[in-house]
Amino acid sequence: MATLKQKYPTESLKCWNKAKELREEYYLNYRDAKKNGGIRWAGGAWSFDAVPQGLGDDVYNITSEPYAASIAANKELAVQCMEATEKAGYARDLCAYMRIYVGSILLDKYLWGGAYPKPDFIWQDHICCGHSKLYQVVRDLEPDVPMFSIDVSAGPYDVIKDHQIKYIVDQLSEGIEWLEKVTGRKFDDEKYIKAVKNECLTTSLWAEICSLNRATPAPLDEKSMYTLYVFGTLGKSNEKYVEFYRELLDEVKDRVARGIAAVGNEQCRLISDSQPPWGFLKVFRYLESYGAVSIGSIYTFGLGGIWEDKPDGTWGARTTPMENGIEIKTREQALWINAEWNLSKPLWQHFYHPKYKTEIMKRIYDEWNANGIILHYNRGCEGTSLGVAENRLGLMKAGCPVMTYEGNMGDEREFDEVATMSRIDTFMENLGVKKLY
Ligand code: SF4
Repeated sequence: MATLKQKYPTESLKCWNKAKELREEYYLNYRDAKKNGGIRWAGGAWSFDAVPQGLGDDVYNITSEPYAASIAANKELAVQCMEATEKAGYARDLCAYMRIYVGSILLDKYLWGGAYPKPDFIWQDHICCGHSKLYQVVRDLEPDVPMFSIDVSAGPYDVIKDHQIKYIVDQLSEGIEWLEKVTGRKFDDEKYIKAVKNECLTTSLWAEICSLNRATPAPLDEKSMYTLYVFGTLGKSNEKYVEFYRELLDEVKDRVARGIAAVGNEQCRLISDSQPPWGFLKVFRYLESYGAVSIGSIYTFGLGGIWEDKPDGTWGARTTPMENGIEIKTREQALWINAEWNLSKPLWQHFYHPKYKTEIMKRIYDEWNANGIILHYNRGCEGTSLGVAENRLGLMKAGCPVMTYEGNMGDEREFDEVATMSRIDTFMENLGVKKLY
């Protein structure tokens, strides 16, 4: 059999091990916070994590969705967790992350060893119906853990008005008083201001990194991006993650300059939408046998990345307040920036209408030179799959080839691997892409 000659050079990411170490450190810091006299809190990946930073440097959090996604990659433990939740009476069609997270509490098992570490408080926000409801269930199990949740469903960003931003600011402000009361600590405005700046940097840097994937060959593939994007969901305001993204940005720029590819035989570029079935990331390896690279998704770009329209009409990393020459001096100013910045999050827009997701995906398809779109009818996440059937129709109407598959990001019992691979074969045939090996 003739050996296939690789089209582009490839090499491992130098930052890879650091990403793994930082992620492990995050979960261990949360687990061990009490031993070290610190505070720990739980909340969602979209919570305003900059705010509790005002309580001190020894405050550590755990975000429920990435934690559940980590468990989901361990199929056996994920099923154990979900079965425990279902046995406790919760329906199987609820958010898969919720079922895994609650199962981890019910089983009293922490993925990084030991019993499940109870938080001192819950600091959540709410745009998907699963957000506060998840923690309502957690509080049924841990009734002594106080909770504060912020309603962020103020409206889509393209028509946002000051009174809608103020709606969030007022809740955050009330939340600060609440945090002081439940922790007995004085809130430090300087620390909060620094955390807000860090959040703007982390989310803007991540968008800049994603922008570089416009290059051919793409320097990153979506499977690798899952390991890298996660810091925007663990703690956007963490200074260490700002530094990591700066390092990663330099490395990706260097890869583009040297023509280093994520997929050595890139001949087809795809984008996707929602979380993948975490236990079956080998789907991406299968795509590679066609020389197909998934260059990202609205999910990887928009969950932890903040974007804006650039003067040349392209979509790019949002300019930070600091780059705009704004000096953040007061708590009020920081609260406003923090709220307004978050309201522009791409992944919050489709909660108001499917047209937003269709528009963003069409834009990524065009600007990143994609050849096709894969949509995940993700039964595990009603939030990211809200309106997905309308997105399919909208994207097809706009001239994009679209493939769909059904699955669940956390529940392997709802993913048909063979049927999905077979749909990929058909999609590739329709795109005229030949299998390479
Ligand atoms: S359904 Fe999706 S968006 Fe909603 S809480 Fe669960 S993971 Fe988050």
